[in-house]
Amino acid sequence: MSEYNYDLITIGAGSGGVRASRLAGGYGAKVAIVEELREGGTCVLRGCVPKKLLVYGSHIQEEVSDAEGYGWTVDGLKHNWEKMIDAKNTELDRLHGIYVNLLKNANVERFHGRGIIVDEHTVSVDGKHITAERILMAVGGWPSTPEIPGIEYVISSNEALDLRERPDRVLVVGSGYIAVEFAGIFNSFGSRVDLVFRADQVLRGFDKDIRSTLTDEMTKKGINIISKVLPEKIEKSDTGFRVYLSNKKNIEVDQVLYATGRSPNTQGLGLAEAGVDLTENGAIKVNEWNQSSVESIYAVGDVTDRINLTPVAIAEGRAFSETLYNNNPMKTDYNDVPSAVFSQPPIGSVGLAEHEAKEIYNDIDVYISGFRPMKYTMTNNTERGLQKLIVDRKTQRIIGAHMIGLDAAEIIQGIGIAVKMNATKADFDATIGIHPTAAEEFVTMRDKRAG
Ligand code: NDP
Repeated sequence: MSEYNYDLITIGAGSGGVRASRLAGGYGAKVAIVEELREGGTCVLRGCVPKKLLVYGSHIQEEVSDAEGYGWTVDGLKHNWEKMIDAKNTELDRLHGIYVNLLKNANVERFHGRGIIVDEHTVSVDGKHITAERILMAVGGWPSTPEIPGIEYVISSNEALDLRERPDRVLVVGSGYIAVEFAGIFNSFGSRVDLVFRADQVLRGFDKDIRSTLTDEMTKKGINIISKVLPEKIEKSDTGFRVYLSNKKNIEVDQVLYATGRSPNTQGLGLAEAGVDLTENGAIKVNEWNQSSVESIYAVGDVTDRINLTPVAIAEGRAFSETLYNNNPMKTDYNDVPSAVFSQPPIGSVGLAEHEAKEIYNDIDVYISGFRPMKYTMTNNTERGLQKLIVDRKTQRIIGAHMIGLDAAEIIQGIGIAVKMNATKADFDATIGIHPTAAEEFVTMRDKRAG
């Protein structure tokens, strides 16, 4: 009989925590999971899933307008925002139910409340103490905002997904994943969108051609891009909020949405007191086995601030449980993780951006191809896309593949397998394209970019 109540207590029932707990439970461990909100976590309830549903919804406006090019006449197109939000919430309830069932089926005991570390084997859930041989922190992250006067008036992506009515005028601050995705959503639903950020182009860190194409396409779609500027003060006005900018201009809007990054959710959880080392920005420091500086305390997902993507958190949760509960030591491989930004147009990316590749490799070849999706050729839609391959000249291995344009996320998932398998440019060239598709461009790129 163990001296503890459980083998494992997981704090946080998001993607990483649920995957780890389900697997551990399935392998016979006695597992408890503690969640203060609802099972499902950021991705399912406040992030990827509802965001993508809204991206789908917002895009319909453009599809209807494209339909005219194909001979359709559409009269009286109307959108009911509240109805969409209710439908989205119904879907999230369904997904929440699935998460609960997955945990039940793996015999994971659920606790509702805030889980706080009391010592290296004890967790307090709203005052009740439970013990375990190991504790897994999977508490994720939370939107962070800079301190400026009036910051209390702003919303984050959490609230943006649950507004009861669509704001006519939205100012989005930031130019990362969340900022460009929400700018696209509100713009396509018909709001006036100002996108304000401190960099010169959106999506710092991404490949430069992808960044400039997205900046151009967002501008073409009507988003007012205000770069190299920051809000300095926000005031409530009679009809909304007035945002004062560092370029001395001010803009009145109905909502101000901040998407200026997310911080690990580690405050007030008793971690430092228990001796868990944190990074400067509050993330839990872990080794390659997801173990913190305290032997019995582990962490996976955004709270460790490695690669903050749901599938990575899931991979980490799996590696944790395989290692400790299935006698199958497993580490997460952080190389060539594909990712997507559901901007409009969307972006898919795997491997290195050109500037990163230049730093690591002596010589690279760059293949690039701009395109107008065939779907739009009979319409007035002027959206353009771009595909790019980056090749290590010495080994001819594809070290980066990037796409912006229709279906980019779906296409790059497949390309990601090839990149992970160390495919060379010759392997891509030897692959017969599927015609007519945008994806075939990746296997028909012949001309290196000069210089
Ligand atoms: P990001 O880190 O992607 O972007 C943060 C943005 O905020 C950048 O534009 C940054 O500017 C700006 N910023 C940061 N601090 C300040 C400040 N003090 N004042 C003004 N601007 C500031 O964060 P997000 O919030 O967009 O997303 C958080 C994480 O969520 C991402 O890292 C990503 O991993 C994940 N995510 C993934 C998605 C996907 O896979 N599709 C979708 C949504 C989120 P600068 O560039 O100048 O530093």
